[in-house]
Amino acid sequence: MSDTSQSAALFERARAVTPGGVNSPVRAFRGVGGTPRFVASAKGAWLTDVDGTRYVDLISSWGPMILGHAHPDVLDAVAQTASRGFSFGTPSENEVALAEEIVARVEPLEQVRLVSSGTEATMSALRLARGATGRSAVVKFAGCYHGHVDALLAHAGSGVATFALPDSAGVPASAAGETIVLPYNDLAAVEAAFAERGEEIAAVITEAAAGNMGVVPPAPGFTEGLRRITAAHGALLISDEVMTGFRCSPSGWYGHETRAGGEHPGGYPSGAPDLFTFGKVMGGGFPAAAFGGRADLMAHLAPDGPVYQAGTLSGNPVATAAGLATLRGCTPSLYDHLAEVSQTIGAAASDALTQAGVPHTLQRASSMFSVFFTDGPVERYSDAQGQDTAAFGRFFHAMLDAGVHLPPSAYESWFVSGAHDDEAVETVLAALPGAARAAA
Ligand code: PLP
Repeated sequence: MSDTSQSAALFERARAVTPGGVNSPVRAFRGVGGTPRFVASAKGAWLTDVDGTRYVDLISSWGPMILGHAHPDVLDAVAQTASRGFSFGTPSENEVALAEEIVARVEPLEQVRLVSSGTEATMSALRLARGATGRSAVVKFAGCYHGHVDALLAHAGSGVATFALPDSAGVPASAAGETIVLPYNDLAAVEAAFAERGEEIAAVITEAAAGNMGVVPPAPGFTEGLRRITAAHGALLISDEVMTGFRCSPSGWYGHETRAGGEHPGGYPSGAPDLFTFGKVMGGGFPAAAFGGRADLMAHLAPDGPVYQAGTLSGNPVATAAGLATLRGCTPSLYDHLAEVSQTIGAAASDALTQAGVPHTLQRASSMFSVFFTDGPVERYSDAQGQDTAAFGRFFHAMLDAGVHLPPSAYESWFVSGAHDDEAVETVLAALPGAARAAA
């Protein structure tokens, strides 16, 4: 085991001044135990912690670092832009260029509004949906995480799953009371909810492909069914592509599902989702996110419409420069590489666990993948909750000791990047058999 004394010392300092010692709960290693590694630097596929230990990074900052860390093109764009000032509070060209890039990639989009986090994007999309429909109820799915928006924290996955909290304290009943939580991949439940409360429901929000309860892709026909049911009842469909956007294909999960040869070739006969949310990859590691849809819907937003939404740092020039450089680096060959590397690592993880006799299920959504420590298939949150999280914890620590940093939770996607080269992949493959035996 490598030396962790510097990380431990920083963690102790951090705990004195920051709740749990971290600025986002899952980083605290509560699900797996032990000392979180404090990172000193990152380059390509590798993290180096403050004790000087290198790890192959399978977190990728929870998705954004699709080109790898400190990619030269992104670094260059950031440095050049920052040299001209950090934030203006007036419009600047990068914001226009990033919006154009996003709109050009995701065919149903006509307009986007830039914000600074995925949470802001989903919160704003929900407000817009409520403002546009004049209704207040919202349907979400158990195990889907849409950021820490009051109304959307009910039965959320991600960190909330790691801590086994059904909800969050501090969310008033009035805020959660308009949220209808249904099982993912269960269209009959959606039909039943709309039969009962269809006239009150402003929107259904769904992770385009769920990655926050581990990876659970939508069953064939699920997204199309949501489109059909919402349209029939005058409700909006919000596709949350904060995680999948620009990762699962050049145009996100939408492109993956609708392009010929994708999982559901032919697309959605009943039409595209009304609103989309994005984050992560589109900021290239900086705080940039967006929500968007048809121009007639977006016209409800201030300054033209009555739905208010704003942000001091929205469309920040440096963040948008990083996002633009990242999206421009998302070439077809990048997606081929992500597919190949995720396939290789996923298959090897599954083989190693099979050899060691550990019950597990490997699931993927394009290049997002995760291993559930339970017999599958995992189609909804209740299936994922049957996992042996203690086995995951042993597996996680054995991987860490062998130089591979997985997400420190059994409920998260593993992410690879364009920088995961042969050396990085070999390091992961070499670590897997021992980790699988530790999990057994
Ligand atoms: N939506 C999805 C699908 C996410 O995965 C996340 C974050 O993981 C969010 C929204 C919230 O984004 P942020 O953490 O940038 O607020």
